Formats: sequence, C-alpha cells, structure tokens
Amino acid sequence: MSDVPLEDRYRGCLLGLAVGDALGGPVEFMSSAEISARHGRLREMVGGGWLELAPGEYTDDTQLALVIARSIARLGSVAPADIAGGFVAWYRSAPKDVGNTTSRSIRHLIAGASWREAGRETDRAMGARGAGNGSLMRTAPIALACWPDREALDRLGREVSAITHANRLATGACVAFDRALAAVLEGAGDPLAAAAGVDDADVRAVVLAVPDLSHQEVRSGGFVLETLQAALWSCARHDDFEETVVEAVNLGGDADTTGAVAGALAGACYGVSAIPARWLSVLQGRDELVALADRLLEVARTGQMGV
Ligand code: MG
Ligand code: MG
Repeated sequence: MSDVPLEDRYRGCLLGLAVGDALGGPVEFMSSAEISARHGRLREMVGGGWLELAPGEYTDDTQLALVIARSIARLGSVAPADIAGGFVAWYRSAPKDVGNTTSRSIRHLIAGASWREAGRETDRAMGARGAGNGSLMRTAPIALACWPDREALDRLGREVSAITHANRLATGACVAFDRALAAVLEGAGDPLAAAAGVDDADVRAVVLAVPDLSHQEVRSGGFVLETLQAALWSCARHDDFEETVVEAVNLGGDADTTGAVAGALAGACYGVSAIPARWLSVLQGRDELVALADRLLEVARTGQMGV
C-alpha cells in the first residue's frame, strides 16, 4: 500500500467517494435483506432508487464534497465563509436531496447568520438529533488539502463541519476521519490508530470497537458514529477497493453515505488504479473529480495552509 503514488491516492480518494456514493445511492434506505432480495450482492452501478438516479450518478454526499473541493481549489486555502457561500448556492440549485440538518443550517445562512452562527443555531435546536453524518460524508477534501499540518487538519475539519453540523459527535467524527485519511496519505500510518487518537471519548470508543465487531453488530443509519464505524469496519475487513465499497453499501441503511466515506478512505489507500474501470466508466463528473484531486495536491504542497 505504501508504494501507491500520492497523486494516485488523491484521485482515488475523490473518485472513491463519488463511486461509493453512486453505487449506494440506488439502495439508500433499504435494509441489507432488501438489497440482497433485489440485487443479490450489489456490485454494479444499477441506478434507480428513491432518487431515480442514472447509473453512476452521485448524490448530495459528492455534491457537497465538490463544493468544498472547488472552494479550496479556487482560493488555494480552506475558507469556511466561502464554503458556506457555496453551500447556499448549491441549496438554491434545487438538488435532488438535502439532509435535514444541512437544510436547517443553510436556511440560517440564507437568513443572514454567519457561518459560525448557522450550525450553532441548528445544534441548539436539534440537540442529539443534530449528530447526523451530513458533514462526515463531505469532509475528505479537508484532509486532502491540510493533512501535512495536523493543527490545521483538526481545526478546519471541525470548522467546516460546524457550518452545518456543530454537534460534538459530528465534528469529532470529521476530525477522526480526516486523521485516518492523513495517516493513509502519509503512506505508512494506520488509519484506525490515527482515528482513535481523537480527544472525544465517544468518538474514540466507536473507533476502538471496530476490530472486534461482527457483521451483525455493524449499524449503518444516518447517525454519524454509525457511519464512521461502518466505513472504518468495511475498510478494515478487506484489502482491496472493490470489496471494501461493496461491503459498505450492502450494509444498507444510509448506503450511499457509508459507501462514500468508505470509498474515500479505500481510494486513498489503494489509489485510483484500484477502482474498477466498469464503475469509473459510468461515473458522473469524472474529469472534474480528477482535476480537483490534482489541484488539492498542489494546494497541500504549495498552498497557504502552512503545509
Ligand atoms: Mg446522498
Ligand atoms: Mg445518504
């Protein structure tokens, strides 16, 4: 794994996120038994589902990761206010799907709240219900831009989460996952050990439980700690890209999001050359994802992140 070139890992991460999203999108909200009855072991880009997706079409997970990646690419740095503006523009483009917590916070932004206030207001109103996976699913570009500077990685992962998801578990999960990605991008680190280094005891506990979880114990709903754990578990269970992402989406539940998170990490581990060509050939927006991955590498190497 350590001989995968960094450029390959960057492309693998963004394309892996999109591929996992597009593979899981058609079975989002189905149980694993329902997926199995309908598709057997799902491993093809079938399209359809409640969003009536075309084969290879990605959803809000990738769209929001793209908003972040495009902002970083344009500015050469991570600027939460600019990303918040991008979220507003995306919301106004009438996307097929917008999560509840994301939608609430973006409406606060539209009403004039600053990027720091918007997520806090939502957090106050939603309490524990605000611990959804809507910021975890889009956080990978932060790791791609910031990983050599661990202080910036943690701070910006937390801040960009908090634009919509200021909940402690949501921000903590973003930090854990960005650290896992950072360990992989470094080429030698263990992603699980890196994720387990987070301060938050609840986030740390779900990461530490991963090696001992049976298939039946893995949950894959919209709760952010379920998504973090299910994605890390899928990655720990396999040593290649396809099987990792197939495992993640076939868990069912929030299948596109578990697929996107697992796909981003597996793509960073094994590189874009490990992603099946039959998936990439139908993937929406492939050229833009490649260009943004290359640009984020440039930002990490030469940008204003202090990296
Ligand atoms: Mg989605
Ligand atoms: Mg989802």
